[in-house]
Amino acid sequence: MIPILDLGPDLRQHEADYVEAFRRVLRSGQFIGGPEVEAFEREVAELLGVAHAVGLNSGTDALVIALRVLGIGPGDEVITTAFTFFATAEAVSQVGARPVFADVDERTFNLDPDRVEDAVTERTRAILPVHLYGRVAPMTRLLEIARRHGLAVVEDCAQSFGAVYSGDCAGCHGHECVHAIRTELVGRQTGTMVEMGAFSFFPSKNLGAFGDAGLLVTDDSDLADAARQLRAHGSRQRYRNETIGYNSRLDAIQAALLRERLPRVAFDNAARRAAARRYTAALADVAGVVVPEIRDGDVVHQYTVRILRGQRDRVAEALAAGGVETRVYYSVPCHRLPVYAGAGYPPLPVTEQLAAEVLSLPIGPHLAPETADRVTSALARALA
Ligand SMILES: *Cc1c(COP(=O)(O)O)cnc(C)c1O
Repeated sequence: MIPILDLGPDLRQHEADYVEAFRRVLRSGQFIGGPEVEAFEREVAELLGVAHAVGLNSGTDALVIALRVLGIGPGDEVITTAFTFFATAEAVSQVGARPVFADVDERTFNLDPDRVEDAVTERTRAILPVHLYGRVAPMTRLLEIARRHGLAVVEDCAQSFGAVYSGDCAGCHGHECVHAIRTELVGRQTGTMVEMGAFSFFPSKNLGAFGDAGLLVTDDSDLADAARQLRAHGSRQRYRNETIGYNSRLDAIQAALLRERLPRVAFDNAARRAAARRYTAALADVAGVVVPEIRDGDVVHQYTVRILRGQRDRVAEALAAGGVETRVYYSVPCHRLPVYAGAGYPPLPVTEQLAAEVLSLPIGPHLAPETADRVTSALARALA
C-alpha cells in the first residue's frame, strides 16, 4: 500500500538527532517552558520573518487565543470558510462568536473574496482565511476588504508552514494587479501578512511535532504579550491571574524536537512541490480529473484533485484496491456538520460540489518519482 503520508523515512534518517534532542530535555529536567521553548520561538520567528512567536499546545488553541486577544466574543461574527478542518470554525464558536461561512473559489479551494464581501454585516469583526492544502489564500483582496470595513484578519496556517505569498489576488485575472496592498504582501510568509497567524504542528502537518503543538505569530508586541498571558492561565506573574485563560503551553520536548526539523522545512516543502508538479504533468491530459495549479510559494500540504461526473468514490475504491491510499479532505463541510444542524446556514454551492469531488493523493517530502508514477497510472486506469 502506498500511504497518504509516510513519516517513516524521516524518522529513520534522523532518529539519532531526535533521540539526542530528547536526551537534552531529559537531562535538563525542565519540561515546561525554559531554554528549548525560548530558542524555538526565536528561531521560528526569525525563519518566518515576524517579531513574536508564542508556542502553544495546538493549532486549535492558537486560533482560539488569537480570537481572544483580538477581543472577539459573543455577538460577533467571523467570516471564514466551511471547506476546512472543523477546528477553524470550532475556534470561532469556542470564543462565543458566530462563524459565518463564505463560499470558496473552485479553482483554488480557498475563500472567494467576492463572497466574503457579500457576507460582511455590522456584526462582522474579523476574517479568518485558511491556506487550504498549503495553497496561499488571496490575501491582497481579503486584506483590502478587511481595511475597508475595519475588520481584523487572522490566518489559519495549519496547512501552510513555509508558504510564501506570490501575489495572486484572485481578481485581476492575469492582468496587471491594480491592488496597492499587493506590494505590501508579496514575498511574505503566511502568518505574517496580517494581525496574527496560527500554526499547527500536528504530526502530519508540513512541520510536524511528536504529539500536539501549535504556534501564534504576530508583529504586535501587545497582542503577543496578551497571548503569552492567556496560554498560562491568564497570568503574567505567578498567582496574579488577571483573566480566564488556558493551560496551553508548548512542551519543552516538542520544542527541542521541532528545532531539529525546522532547518529542513524549506527543503521538504520544495520536495513536496517537485512531487506535486510530477503529478500535475502526468495527469494534465487525463479526462475526468482536474489537477491543482502548483505555484512557487505554495507548500502542497495535500495534493488534491477533483474527480468529475460523480466518479470520486468509485475511483477512490479502485485506487485502494490497487494499493494506493487516498483521503477526502473534507467530505462534510463545516456548515453541514451535526454541531451546526440548528444554526440555519444557507447552502454553499461551490463548497458542496468540491466536497463531493475532491480526492487527496499520497504526498510528502519522501515520495519517490517511481511511487508518484504508480499513483498517476493507477488513477488514469481507474478513470479510463
Ligand atoms: C490541523 C488543523 C487545525 C488544528 O490544528 P491542531 O494542532 O490539530 O489543533 C486547524 N485548522 C486547520 C485548517 C487544520 O488543518
